[in-house]
Amino acid sequence: MAYILNEKISGLEPYETIQGDFRIRLDANESFIEIPESTKNEMLEGIAELSLNRYPDPRARRVCSLFASYYNVDPDCVSAFNGSDELLFLISTCFLMKGEKAVFLAPDFSMYRFYSELGEARTAIMQKNSDASFTAEDVISFVNAERARLLIFSNPCNPTGVGIERQEVIKIIEGCPDCLVAVDEAYMEFWDQSVIDLVCNYDNLMVLKTCSKAFRMAGIRCGFCVANKTLTDALLAVKSPYNVNSMTQTAAAAILSHPGELDAAIAHIKSSAASLKQELSDMAAQFPDKLSVRDTCANFSVIEMPGDSAKRMYEALKKEGILVRCFGSFLRVTAGSDEENAEFIRAFENNLF
Ligand code: PMP
Repeated sequence: MAYILNEKISGLEPYETIQGDFRIRLDANESFIEIPESTKNEMLEGIAELSLNRYPDPRARRVCSLFASYYNVDPDCVSAFNGSDELLFLISTCFLMKGEKAVFLAPDFSMYRFYSELGEARTAIMQKNSDASFTAEDVISFVNAERARLLIFSNPCNPTGVGIERQEVIKIIEGCPDCLVAVDEAYMEFWDQSVIDLVCNYDNLMVLKTCSKAFRMAGIRCGFCVANKTLTDALLAVKSPYNVNSMTQTAAAAILSHPGELDAAIAHIKSSAASLKQELSDMAAQFPDKLSVRDTCANFSVIEMPGDSAKRMYEALKKEGILVRCFGSFLRVTAGSDEENAEFIRAFENNLF
């Protein structure tokens, strides 16, 4: 006899980003803007003063309260995690009883389904329209027909970039009263249809926030949940006690203490995303048989290309040291600095022919 891994994990590969020496990485929707030097120094000074032999604050109170004041929400409705990935794992595995069902939309962020399947949840997938749109009514009938107890979706959506308006999200929350609705607003700083202010009005709403995009903290690993007190307390009860380490708490607190810097970085990313989209749209108007550009409301552009040309473009860019993401006939390109965008546009155009 020998120990054999169970079938749900035996075929899994560790998560790996694409390795290599890339000049320009526009593949992961990170911010292209670094933390300002003065704030970095504050972070480092704070970390130098920590008693690293002691456990961190299990509730991450300081960082939760800074986050709460940035969004003008009640700090008792905020909980902190080791990236929003940890939060997604907890929601998918702890908020369903054995045999209960989760609903996801497709396309959407792939980790929702991955974590739920690891937790052995039953899952049902609602396919979006071919232009990645969907209506609240579609979702409500699907969730209710499946008697789902959990729905997670991103708004705006990664990878499609499509957002649904706040009023539609409210319809979904109200139309699925027996289902926990987790709205992943990872990219909402780049749009304006958040429901974060509504968490206390509903007993089935969670808003998930990452610090990895607009807040420029992908390397720090910090994410938050905003939800009513009952849901927040449940999350605090199921998470591991010291899930956010003291260096992350200190670093994130230093960054969140400068709301003006956060606002400036967001404005800069939005303007970079708008000019990238504009340049691509101009190219699409010139060469309509070669590419079209989707309307996105996040920090990335989505380009559709005929046949296998998206895949070929992806490979050609990679050879030139430029990394984007390819999903079938689509390329997803994160907005970079002006120089990175210009390099990408030049390489893209050269490889079109
Ligand atoms: N949700 C969405 C929609 C994302 O795109 C990502 C990152 N790609 C995450 C969550 C995970 O974010 P974090 O870095 O906080 O784990």
